[in-house]
Amino acid sequence: MQQHLAVCKVMSTKQLYLYDSYLKEFQAKVLSVVGNQVVLDQTAFHPLTGGVANDLGCLSRGNLRFSIAKVDINRETKEITHTLEELAELKPGDSVSGALDWDRRYRLMRLHTAAHLIATIMYRDYSALITGGQVDVDQAKLDFNLPKTDREIFEAAVRKANEEARKGVELKIYFLAREEALKIHGVVKLAEKMPPEEKELRIVEIPGIDLQADGGPHVKNTNEIGEIQLLKIENKGKNQRRVYFAVK
Ligand SMILES: [Zn+2]
Repeated sequence: MQQHLAVCKVMSTKQLYLYDSYLKEFQAKVLSVVGNQVVLDQTAFHPLTGGVANDLGCLSRGNLRFSIAKVDINRETKEITHTLEELAELKPGDSVSGALDWDRRYRLMRLHTAAHLIATIMYRDYSALITGGQVDVDQAKLDFNLPKTDREIFEAAVRKANEEARKGVELKIYFLAREEALKIHGVVKLAEKMPPEEKELRIVEIPGIDLQADGGPHVKNTNEIGEIQLLKIENKGKNQRRVYFAVK
């Protein structure tokens, strides 16, 4: 989605997921524990941000396993907070291992890359700007600025997104200096909204189709998305149309 806040590396917690969407397990050190909230020096758990649902999974230390209920970003401290389902028997300095619920994460990745395809086709072919969206584990929704509810437009966009997905395009994910990113048409609008301390932006490119600053996990190749299915279209007020879709 286009409104990622965490596309940069300026954070107290090292965001391992920015570098490798396929990292399922990792080691980390506990930095702080408050109640059932744990902050690590690094994490592969993607927090709830940028319109993509958070990862779930568990942290373990020795024989102890702690299930994760929520992962989000503390905007003040710029830390990623892992909220455990029960009180954490952990303390600062402990070494832990993290394991993602991979089925959930992989579905989010497939839906997220599908969302980028649909959004870019809606803009390219129908001049419809994305105004919001949310990728959840079972479905995703995107809001577009469109003057009328036109089912044919959404059906065509999903059909075209499926055609692009089937081409098997390899995604490119890399960091660019802010000044370089600003020169690229399409990421400029977003980059200008970012705080000035963000020196580098993470770029997600689906070559030949889409390029944008983005902090979320994606599949490596569009052929991993599977079949995108249009679920429903809603009228959300003046010029606002919402489309729901899933991947199969
Ligand atoms: Zn995105």
